Amino acid sequence: SAATKSAEWALSRKDEVDINGGWEPGTPTTKRIEKTSYLTTFFLLLIQRSAPGDTESLLHAVYLCINRLSPDYIGIELGIGESLLVKAICESTGRSSATVKADLKKEGDLGLVAQNSKNNQKTLFKMKQLTVPHVFKNLKEIALSSGHASQAKKVSIITKLLASCQGTEAKYIIRSLEGKLRIGNAERSVLLALAHAIVLAEKEKDTKKWSKEKLANRLVEGAEVVKSVYSELPSYDLVIPALLEVGIDGLKDKCSLTPGKQIDSYQRKHTNKSLGIPLKPMLAKPTKALGEVLDRFENKPFTCEYKYDGERAQIHRLSDGTLAVFSRNSEDMSKKYPDLVEQIPRCIKEGVESFVLDAEAVAIERSTGKLLPFQELSKRKRKDVKLEDIEVKVCLFGFDLLYLNGEPLLRKPLSERRQLLREHFQAVDKEFQFAKSSDSETVDEIQTFLEESVKDGCEGLMVKMLESEASYYEPSRRSVNWLKVKKDYLAGVGDSLDLVVVGGYYGKGKRTNVYGAFLLACYDADSEEYQTICKIGTGFSDEMLQSHYTVLKPLEQERPRGDIKIGGAKPDIWFEPKIVWEVLTADLSLSPIYTAAQGLVGDRGVSLRFPRFIRVRDDKDADDATGPEQIAEMYEMQTLAQSKGKKKKGDD
Ligand code: ATP
Repeated sequence: SAATKSAEWALSRKDEVDINGGWEPGTPTTKRIEKTSYLTTFFLLLIQRSAPGDTESLLHAVYLCINRLSPDYIGIELGIGESLLVKAICESTGRSSATVKADLKKEGDLGLVAQNSKNNQKTLFKMKQLTVPHVFKNLKEIALSSGHASQAKKVSIITKLLASCQGTEAKYIIRSLEGKLRIGNAERSVLLALAHAIVLAEKEKDTKKWSKEKLANRLVEGAEVVKSVYSELPSYDLVIPALLEVGIDGLKDKCSLTPGKQIDSYQRKHTNKSLGIPLKPMLAKPTKALGEVLDRFENKPFTCEYKYDGERAQIHRLSDGTLAVFSRNSEDMSKKYPDLVEQIPRCIKEGVESFVLDAEAVAIERSTGKLLPFQELSKRKRKDVKLEDIEVKVCLFGFDLLYLNGEPLLRKPLSERRQLLREHFQAVDKEFQFAKSSDSETVDEIQTFLEESVKDGCEGLMVKMLESEASYYEPSRRSVNWLKVKKDYLAGVGDSLDLVVVGGYYGKGKRTNVYGAFLLACYDADSEEYQTICKIGTGFSDEMLQSHYTVLKPLEQERPRGDIKIGGAKPDIWFEPKIVWEVLTADLSLSPIYTAAQGLVGDRGVSLRFPRFIRVRDDKDADDATGPEQIAEMYEMQTLAQSKGKKKKGDD
């Protein structure tokens, strides 16, 4: 019903909008359905008013809405520094750098400063209105310019863009350039709006009238198809032109998992990145007890695999022999793992041309091959690693095969994918191994295998459906068909949390030059907001604090961002929510100060007691952080366990 409501709004609003004459925003809204419906209207109008064959207008508009210029794996990024932007604002408005900086201190948002500077400026003649393709082209040029004189070139392009800005445009252009648009539109809302707009365009074209029910069904179906295709082929460059050409019904045939599909020539000219297209990896649901595994999988064939403690690596090989390694977040890691690129050809059997392999890269001891914890791997630089400089050896543990010799395997049962993996690849000592597995059936068997995995240096087990549709590979899903059982359950502590660092407290004593404690938050994907959860300040060594300081200092902000639900937390300084830490806790409690999971377990929020820092998760973005539902669930499980414990004691 939310989909229909949003679509109806979009349709009713359509006639009020004149996109060619500029669209002055009405009252800003923070409600997700409303935001999606505004976007739907906008995309629908673009589709209807673009010239036949013009796929770029919609493509560029989508990119601008999510503040990106290319797919993640190509990595053309904005994030222009403050000093360059201040310079451009000064040049285009004639203000001095001192006054612009003073305003920035007051406002805390360079976008707003640019907008105010522009609006207070008297202009003699009206500049030509900015258009989406023009802005997109310029942003891309800025992001791609490098080498000497590139600074001056960037300032000159930005100055010209600013000169043409009207109304609120300067605010959003500057924020886009900073790489923080802050319109609270998560990518999934944009995908939803895109799907709805395509369905509505189809409806408007149809000479037959659609019933309310037909519209509702088509909207749901459209959203499902677009989301699933995008998770298999996360490239708007390919999905949007296909959507415009063949619509929802033909999309799955036109776009499917494809290693090595060509990217557009402009991108190819400007990047030397690989041509593989990573799909969004399938993820697992945490379990709270081994019994839960059996409840879920009883009477169905399943397998347990070691959960290796390394980094997810999706390996693509194109038929021309090119190899690429992608991270959990679809970033190209080929330059971080030149050793993997060199090792992998030795584990491929004859007859294998192209493939996509899902695997975990794990640090091992060079002489014995013993598994080492993730921390060893995290010491490696992220880019430009040279083979001869590598100290920590990496072994790849393959657990799934998603594509082989031109054929996607996603919709084959895991048992078949695993069979193909074993047939076409071979283990090579200390270079490539198949993930160790056991097709166990009883709690006792799983328990034994779990203990064995921990003894061998793993985090625990992954339990996976083995047969039938339930075992198909589900890109980007946190699926109940994959459960993770972590060793922490053995000690009864529960799963760790991935939290975003949103604030800092100045250190005391000999720690005055760094932050001494931090404010953490979880992320609610529904309301698109960060909810504060705890202050963490113990367990850090001096070196760690120094390194956190170096990373967090550039993210400092005087005011909290609007999408942080603060509650009563009062850090000394706020950060742009970007850095994710893995944290363990002894206990969860209700709190009058913090806002995490507020409304899910009562009026108060949930907070962590005695939180302990485990590691930085630089393979996760802020919106991959733990959500409030999981926190509420953990709190409830704990309450349940406590009441059971008390009962037992009483019985004794
Ligand atoms: P975590 O914080 O537990 O690493 P996550 O959010 O990164 O979680 P999950 O789906 O919860 O991802 O856990 C699966 C992760 O475990 C995978 O992303 C992968 O990196 C790793 N892993 C290790 N061994 C396996 C395996 N045999 N099968 C699947 N994933 C595995």
